[in-house]
Amino acid sequence: MISEALQHVRDRIAAACAQAQRPVDRVTLVAVSKTFPAEAVVAALDAGQRHFGENYVQEGVDKIARVAFLRPNLAVDAQPVWHFIGPLQSNKSRLVAEHFDWVHSVDRLKIAQRLSEQRPAHLPPLNVCLQVNISNEASKSGFAASEVAAAALQIKALPRLQLRGLMCIPEPADCAGKQRAPFRQMRELLSDLQRQGLPIDTLSMGMSADMEAAIMEGATMVRVGTAIFGARSVKTTAA
Ligand SMILES: *Cc1c(COP(=O)(O)O)cnc(C)c1O
Repeated sequence: MISEALQHVRDRIAAACAQAQRPVDRVTLVAVSKTFPAEAVVAALDAGQRHFGENYVQEGVDKIARVAFLRPNLAVDAQPVWHFIGPLQSNKSRLVAEHFDWVHSVDRLKIAQRLSEQRPAHLPPLNVCLQVNISNEASKSGFAASEVAAAALQIKALPRLQLRGLMCIPEPADCAGKQRAPFRQMRELLSDLQRQGLPIDTLSMGMSADMEAAIMEGATMVRVGTAIFGARSVKTTAA
């Protein structure tokens, strides 16, 4: 059941926070609902989950509308907060700017400029994270670590975006020690930017298999799909 799986994930987060001696309210759980129907989102929403992540633009936009239809008239502080976490093509950026609250996967300047231009005036600035290709994989998108500072300064200047921090999807590793190394690099990158005066606070890192390692290294948002909603039958790759 989704509510039980959700509670189990919350318990894992709480245990990792205790081990890291970090307050549990510093880690936000983003429930990754990609490939699952709006009804699964509603079950999680009814169990108190607020933040949801989607990877595919059209699927996400349709689900946002369907969830609003299934749960109309929610109080402002009970409404879902939608995070776009997947690869973003230029021709789909407008839908994302219009329908989502966050984008974690900003991987080039041009996409950031488009999102800023396309963010509707009646909405607050779009929260964004820069995706960092922390394991330097040819198959993964994201800024190289060495490019992050310059990109962050340019993106911070865009009027309709609020630069919040950094996101990564490291290469899978089987033991906690290996999992932590790229997360530690991310934490150091964020600290460097903060020391340069950038007012950013978000490290989006950690998924079902490595959320504990990410929390030990300072994750403020973990993106968890499988451990909440179960295995995905449609094969998807994190990019
Ligand atoms: C699918 C996905 C997740 C969730 O992965 P799980 O292993 O199912 O927890 C997190 N982040 C991104 C970018 C994803 O694409």
